[in-house]
Amino acid sequence: MISFYPGPSKVWDKLPQYLQEAFQEGVLSINHRSPEFVAISREAIRLLHEKLNIPKDYTIFFTSSATECWEIIAQSILGSSKSLHLYNGAFGEKWQEYTQKLTGQATARTFSPEMPPQPVGLELEENTLLLALTQNETSNGTALPQHFFQEVRRLYPEVLIAVDATSGMAGVNLDFPTADIWYASVQKCFGLPAGLALMICSPRALARAEALNERLHYNSLLFMQEKIVDAQTTYTPNVLGIYLLMRSLQDRPSITTTAALLKERYRQWVLFFEEHPFFRLLIKNSAVRSQTVLTLEGKEEEVALLKQAAKTAGLYLGNGYGKWKKNTFRIANFPALNETEIRQLKNFLAGYSQGS
Ligand SMILES: *Cc1c(COP(=O)(O)O)cnc(C)c1O
Repeated sequence: MISFYPGPSKVWDKLPQYLQEAFQEGVLSINHRSPEFVAISREAIRLLHEKLNIPKDYTIFFTSSATECWEIIAQSILGSSKSLHLYNGAFGEKWQEYTQKLTGQATARTFSPEMPPQPVGLELEENTLLLALTQNETSNGTALPQHFFQEVRRLYPEVLIAVDATSGMAGVNLDFPTADIWYASVQKCFGLPAGLALMICSPRALARAEALNERLHYNSLLFMQEKIVDAQTTYTPNVLGIYLLMRSLQDRPSITTTAALLKERYRQWVLFFEEHPFFRLLIKNSAVRSQTVLTLEGKEEEVALLKQAAKTAGLYLGNGYGKWKKNTFRIANFPALNETEIRQLKNFLAGYSQGS
């Protein structure tokens, strides 16, 4: 079964080899305070900086999921300060809801999936500490364009900007200096098994954490910072996940190369669906369409039949999400999917005719 689900998704073809190496090198039993672990963790962090173009002065933390990052931001950055959450889909909404429960100060502002929000008209309430953005909304296949982040940064230099880049990081060349906090879990574009995430913080974000001085949780950002200085974590982390991250990054080209490849594959998918008799891209405005998660729309019965037929053919398609649950399906355009697999899916989709 080849998984085109937009996370967890297909893992790197070389994963069995990496796992074997991890086992043989004793990684599965190492202590998380040992020099062996520290070497792996340091190398993973170094490679992230190098291959994803993460600025030197941004700190990379290991967490267990993107969801955990929502909580860390609320407890260790916001406290009882105001945040504005700008979103058009289910993940942005969940982030706002969790934050609201913890801070009581999280304002929601929604925008249409077809229309990017206008940075000029944001009208932040007074004392808004943080703006929460979703770089790639996995639920509907939209993305905020690069220039949006640059524009927001320029117009609101005072406010901290936090970005959920879960289904974009490692697939899109993110402009890290345009925000203060970026996070992503590894089961999407990183092509790795679930259970590990990264949270990347600017010096300004860490200065805010120090000013707030929240120290009540195992994952209080200040505790995490004390440990990450020595490439360690506050709890026993997903050591295997960190090893796999290091090992897979060693074999990866720079993000510029990967992003260009995905962009070209995306372009080919768009051309492909322009010709398709049953399914078309849900998002019509190409300026806000995601290049890493494609959402296809069709008649409910066609979508159901297609997903079933695909499964029989060994191809696992992503279900629709939320209000698009029944009339859409999703296809991951993540780096670990290879050309042969993409060809296989295209052949299947091209040969698909009603109910067969
Ligand atoms: C998958 C996803 C999440 C949730 O990730 P977890 O690792 O399950 O916490 C959050 N935000 C976005 C945009 C996602 O795609």
